[in-house]
Amino acid sequence: MTWMLPRVVLAALAVLLGAGLAWLLGRWWPQLPWLPPLTGSLIGVAALFTVDSLRAHRLMQWLRGALAGSAPRDRGLWGELAYRVERAVRDRDRAIERERQELLQFLSAIEASPNGVLMLDAEDHIRWCNRVAADHFSLDPQRDRDQRVTNLVRFPAFVALLQSGDYSQPLVLPHVRGRLTLAVVVRAYGEGMRLVLTQDITERERAEAMRRDFVANVSHEIRTPLTVLAGFIETMASLPLTEPERKRVLSLMNQQTQRMQSLVSDLLTLAQLEGSPRPDADRWLGVQALLQRVLSDASALSKGRHELVLESGPSAELAGVEAELLSAVANLANNAVRYTPDGGRIELSFGLLADGSGEICVRDTGPGIAREHLPRLTERFYRVDGSRNRDTGGTGLGLSIVKHVAQRHGGELKIDSEVGKGSRFRVALPAARVRSVEVLGVEAARVPEGSL
Ligand code: ADP
Repeated sequence: MTWMLPRVVLAALAVLLGAGLAWLLGRWWPQLPWLPPLTGSLIGVAALFTVDSLRAHRLMQWLRGALAGSAPRDRGLWGELAYRVERAVRDRDRAIERERQELLQFLSAIEASPNGVLMLDAEDHIRWCNRVAADHFSLDPQRDRDQRVTNLVRFPAFVALLQSGDYSQPLVLPHVRGRLTLAVVVRAYGEGMRLVLTQDITERERAEAMRRDFVANVSHEIRTPLTVLAGFIETMASLPLTEPERKRVLSLMNQQTQRMQSLVSDLLTLAQLEGSPRPDADRWLGVQALLQRVLSDASALSKGRHELVLESGPSAELAGVEAELLSAVANLANNAVRYTPDGGRIELSFGLLADGSGEICVRDTGPGIAREHLPRLTERFYRVDGSRNRDTGGTGLGLSIVKHVAQRHGGELKIDSEVGKGSRFRVALPAARVRSVEVLGVEAARVPEGSL
């Protein structure tokens, strides 16, 4: 009631003003005794009314002016009223700002989601979407707002899902923007609103397809020798064989068994490589000794059919798992022996590059590989010519193992080949895993890149 006191003071001033005027009028017109009190009262009321109106006008101006600036600082009723209104407005503004900030935080959390989020109203209009959803469906979050989603995302299965009203099953959309596979989930909320969640499952689908192919390939690879073995067992059981025939059949059975053993052993190697952590770079092994071992194994396999050469190179050491590096280089050398026709030349070498990295190289003068096969050579069970290569006793997993070993050591497998001229396979290792060894006080010479 603080506004009462100024109002009473104002009324008292108006009464005093009226009484003063009445006294003056009474002195000028003594013959009209009712005039002074009437005039005095009217003037007092008019003064009170004018002051009140001015203050109300100022308050109205402030209210009409979108409450900009501070409220009129009058005393009395209007001042109190303005102050109360101003406080209520400020409280409301603060609450709105707080809610706005919370909404922004909420939206930026959804924005940060790796999945797409699209909010639709009851008429399928886009109310909001995050950047991932916009990217998945090629939408513009600002421009396409309030547009009907079915005019912009025209996949028949998606449109049918929205129209069906049955959102219990997720939808898989293949070939979105040419290459993406999206999983789409729709959930209803509020009054007819829908939340559309999208997830890029391209990688997952690819891995799943690879897994299916892998299982099919392994089954096929195992079934072939098993079928052959079963045939031989049946032959031996049902036919009386001569001693030479029996020996031949046993030798063929032995071949098939070895083929299965190699397959299982390569599969185990791959599984081990995939399942174990990257090897530390603290165990060093001499490159020349490693190449020498590979050379003697390859010579045994070649049985003098090829010219096998270990080129002299810098003395260096590699950091890594000896068994893995040995198996990788041996795989390359074995391939060279198996695919290079008799009389061909196979070279093993090691070179240091100017940036400190190193490369183990296996080069042959074999049939070479057509360019279109090169990118797929390291895929499991990929063979340039399936029927021909099966005769060579390969499992189709060799280059896959080499690639894994190189990658686990921070390096890569590089393949160059030309049909009719031969092939060059290089296991490149980073500088951190290569160190040159000083021979008789002279540091091993470095060779420029490409001169291997
Ligand atoms: P495989 O066990 O069949 O040899 P790899 O993974 O070792 O499997 O090799 C994949 C394919 O690459 C081979 O089937 C063969 O067609 C081709 N290949 C590998 N090394 C050579 C080479 N030195 N010369 C020609 N072709 C090769």
